[in-house]
Amino acid sequence: MSTAAQPTGSAETHAFQADVGKVLDLVIHSLYSQREIFLRELISNASDALDKLRYRALTDHDLATEGVPREIRITPDREAGTITIADTGIGMSHDELVEYLGTVAHSGTRAFEQSRAEAGAAADEVSLIGQFGVGFYSAYLVADRVDVVSRPAGKEGAAWRWSSDAREEYTLEPAERETHGTTVTLHLRDEEKGFAESWRIEDLVRRYSDYIDHPIRLVRPAEEAEEPEDGEAAAEAKEPEQINTGGALWKRPKDTITDEDYAAFYKHVTHDVTDPMARTHFTVEGTRMFTGLLFVPDKAPFDLFSQDPSHGVRLYVKRVFIMDECDALLPRWLRFIRGVIDSDDLPLNVSRETLQDSAVVRFIQKQVTRKALDMLDEIAADEERYAKFWAEFGLVLKEGVHLAFEHKERIGKLLRFRSSASDALTSLDAYVERMPEDQKAIYYVMAQSLDAAKSSPHLEALRKRGYEVLYLTDPIDEWVVMGLSMWGDHALVSAMKAGLELKPADEAEEKEREVAREAVSGVLERFQSVLGDRIGEVRASTRLTDSPVCLVVPEGSLHAHVERLLRQSDRAAALPETRRILEVNPTHPLITRLQELADAGKAETLDESIRLLYDQALLAEGSPVDDPAGFARRLLDVMTRSLA
Ligand code: ADP
Ligand code: MG
Repeated sequence: MSTAAQPTGSAETHAFQADVGKVLDLVIHSLYSQREIFLRELISNASDALDKLRYRALTDHDLATEGVPREIRITPDREAGTITIADTGIGMSHDELVEYLGTVAHSGTRAFEQSRAEAGAAADEVSLIGQFGVGFYSAYLVADRVDVVSRPAGKEGAAWRWSSDAREEYTLEPAERETHGTTVTLHLRDEEKGFAESWRIEDLVRRYSDYIDHPIRLVRPAEEAEEPEDGEAAAEAKEPEQINTGGALWKRPKDTITDEDYAAFYKHVTHDVTDPMARTHFTVEGTRMFTGLLFVPDKAPFDLFSQDPSHGVRLYVKRVFIMDECDALLPRWLRFIRGVIDSDDLPLNVSRETLQDSAVVRFIQKQVTRKALDMLDEIAADEERYAKFWAEFGLVLKEGVHLAFEHKERIGKLLRFRSSASDALTSLDAYVERMPEDQKAIYYVMAQSLDAAKSSPHLEALRKRGYEVLYLTDPIDEWVVMGLSMWGDHALVSAMKAGLELKPADEAEEKEREVAREAVSGVLERFQSVLGDRIGEVRASTRLTDSPVCLVVPEGSLHAHVERLLRQSDRAAALPETRRILEVNPTHPLITRLQELADAGKAETLDESIRLLYDQALLAEGSPVDDPAGFARRLLDVMTRSLA
């Protein structure tokens, strides 16, 4: 400790510890644009002091202080240009005033000073300061002199006045105070006198300190007080009005909170008019502590898929409001969740920037993600309720498969799909339950609509075998199946990709296929030479039963309709050109007929038919044809001939 008292009369003059001056300069410099935070810092200190007293009085009976209400009173005085913040908390003794307000001794400021020393002169001080609580000294953002009169709780408590203009020194002198607690008086700088208005205090308290767990009362100047009408009202008027809502809902025991309380709170936080779909309320305790109250809204917000969607929860630190839409606490794929996180470990003046690389924040995000997934599991226990959730937010949750590898399994369980089994949604687990014994993989088709998926030629053979097929119709599904790749022991296999290989049911079928393939080998070659490099390969198909041809994508490439969407976006340049594979159904009568044409040497009709088949394969998968006029002409030719 650096200060030596120099009594002058009854007052002592102390020099600030060397570092305090530097910290003060820095605070004023870097936080000036946010100077209104001074009030929440001082209220937070008052609240801490009340908490400390409440806690210590449990065991130390000397501190029992019946009759003194635990509260914070704020008195703005426009005439004098002062604001007074008084609490009935634990108070400070002479030595504590020296220790806490005269040195860089307390937690936040000390840590700040240390890291500044470590970072050296090159440190970006403005960004550094955001990481630490600078607490009490923020009073000097608006005041050029601060008086603190404090009396410690307990029998021997004597009151002292600490006073400083925050240059080099401060004074201490004996003072009077009726009860234990602390009164901080800010002598506002001329240009900050506007803070000494009731409405400004009210506004700041509502914004930053609404949920402080002790009553904050505003002592209005005499001219603002309402005229009491009768005796009773006059008595009531003596008690200054409480201006904070108080009692942080999330800190109350769950069994004291009704559904209505939760719903009202949700609406207060979100400005939503509808009750939430679900909620979870929890406290994580251990070396790090925080409380969370999270909600799933009933309806998706309009901006859920915009460039910059609203995202995140409200952050409080020990019940002091810090910021709205704190996105660092929730992964992007849970951006539909709303609510409150109240941390015991973060400093009061964290900023969005400093949150990014905070270990505390990483810890919170991890826990919050878990709790949010628990909440979704709970909704999913009721399929009907979950279907509603899925319709609103399923698309966002799907992003998680791709973004959060570590939660793949849990998110996978929460996925729902349409399928060929019924009109209802199915989970992957339910699909696996229904699989016939000989089915090894999970099959899906990907198309731009449910109808297109249902009528896709690719699933003909699967359907014939009684295999269920998932209908994937969201572009993001491409990344979902890529991210999952397996579900349990079952690979996710696209009915539209080259890898689909359906083993023949028995030897007879094997033989039959072989014979058919042989029979049309000439046509297959012809397909390749007519279509040239529009396709990568022509081959005999095992997936077709009713259609003559279809296009499939090579393994590892994007499905046609997803590729098409990407080509329209600005990422098109990065896409490699994929050449699809044309699969031909060797047992289809049309193909057999083409072979006959080939055998008869009718090259022209054969080639026109091949082009026409290729075009209809494009149309069947939802792709545009290369030469629409040529396609129309060929189609008309065929019609003319068949109707002739
Ligand atoms: P922090 O709150 O992060 O510790 P502050 O600069 O806000 O830092 O406060 C420094 C210290 O001064 C506190 O830790 C506390 O011990 C003491 N203090 C400040 N205000 C009060 C108060 N109203 N009542 C009692 N002690 C206080
Ligand atoms: Mg503080």
